[in-house]
Amino acid sequence: MANLIAVKATRTGLLLYNAGMQTEAVQPSTVANSPDTRSRPQLPGLSTAELVEQMQAIGQPAFRAKQVRDWVNKGVTNPVEMRNLPAALQQELSDHLICSPLSLIQRQCSEDGTRKYLFKLQGGGNIETVLIPDTSRSTVCVSSQLGCVLDCPFCHTGTQRFSGNLTAGEIVAQVLAVKNDLRREPLSNDLHAEVTHVVYMGMGEPLANEAGVYNSLRLLMDEQGLNLSRRRITVSTSGLVPQIGRLGETTPVNLAISLHAGSDALRDELVPINRKYPLAELRMALDTYPLPTQRHITLEYVMLAGVNDRDEDLDALARFVNPERERVNLIHFNAWPGSPYAGSAMQHMNSFAKELIKKGIRATVRRSRGDDIMAACGQLKSHLDLGDATSARGIADIANANKHKAGE
Ligand code: SAH
Ligand code: SF4
Repeated sequence: MANLIAVKATRTGLLLYNAGMQTEAVQPSTVANSPDTRSRPQLPGLSTAELVEQMQAIGQPAFRAKQVRDWVNKGVTNPVEMRNLPAALQQELSDHLICSPLSLIQRQCSEDGTRKYLFKLQGGGNIETVLIPDTSRSTVCVSSQLGCVLDCPFCHTGTQRFSGNLTAGEIVAQVLAVKNDLRREPLSNDLHAEVTHVVYMGMGEPLANEAGVYNSLRLLMDEQGLNLSRRRITVSTSGLVPQIGRLGETTPVNLAISLHAGSDALRDELVPINRKYPLAELRMALDTYPLPTQRHITLEYVMLAGVNDRDEDLDALARFVNPERERVNLIHFNAWPGSPYAGSAMQHMNSFAKELIKKGIRATVRRSRGDDIMAACGQLKSHLDLGDATSARGIADIANANKHKAGE
């Protein structure tokens, strides 16, 4: 079915409308390109102690640091919007710090409340962030790198050229930008109004960016900052074994592993980092990862028709899982233009889950969210150009294809 996309010029940019989804393309705010742009500290990347230091450096008392902290915690990082600060201090903050390292380029809202954001980084490059609201929680899915070098063949991000790690400030800024968006435009009443959880499942391999990711975790958990408990944060990794060990030692948040195959032969193909860290090594890393009581490691398993959804694949998976400490999350394959795989039918996914459960393994089928705006896992890729109707159409077509599949 052809998709009708109306493009309307507005004062702030272009609005693209498509049945059931709203895409808002926002002109990027002007970015200061002075040579020192990247050398100044990023406000979202400052711990409370560092913020106090920065304020002292410009001769400000501690209570001013507290005022700024309170605004940042609400998601407001632009000093002009910090209404209780004197104009001179607002200006000084803008001069000394990079207050908003991300500029919003585009925002898409799904029928189910999911919102997808495309941000431009000051140093160049675009990233995507997703808000997944639910009745009892709202989760932000953050990106940790520009692209990914790990080349999992079913993943859209993996097809994108890698062009760098995000700083801690740029990771935290994604959460703050979503919080600010929720203040300005609240969700419908049945959805949870506040950000409660953060998952590192956007673009990039978080554990290939240890400095940025560990520092961002500390900032998210900072008691005077966003104060998220480690039980509300999940890092997803394709299985970088030494880094899993270090994450457990430094910041043992919830761990999700992109497993996708229970045998080395298949995993070497689907998750090529397996050639470096095969399943036996991954097993040791998982067995020693610290787990609070009642918690599990999540093994993510994207279901690809005829590839990893056969009886022998189920047996291999069941042999790998440690049911005491791990649970399996079956993920619907989210198609993208040119992807070489087809997803397993929903009915087959459900019976695969049942078979695992019969074997004593906790297994769930992940509900897909934001299909109509291509916001689901593995579909994030920063290829959108502002006002590019061709790519918007491509996205709409894929979104429609996904909707039909979901209705099967
Ligand atoms: N690099 C990390 C985190 C980002 S990917 C990792 O690989 O874990 C987040 C999740 O999306 C991973 O489980 C990944 O395997 C999965 N994924 C990637 N492409 C997908 C696709 N097209 N459909 C469904 N899930 C996908
Ligand atoms: Fe990278 Fe994760 Fe995608 Fe693999 S699945 S290419 S590790 S982002």
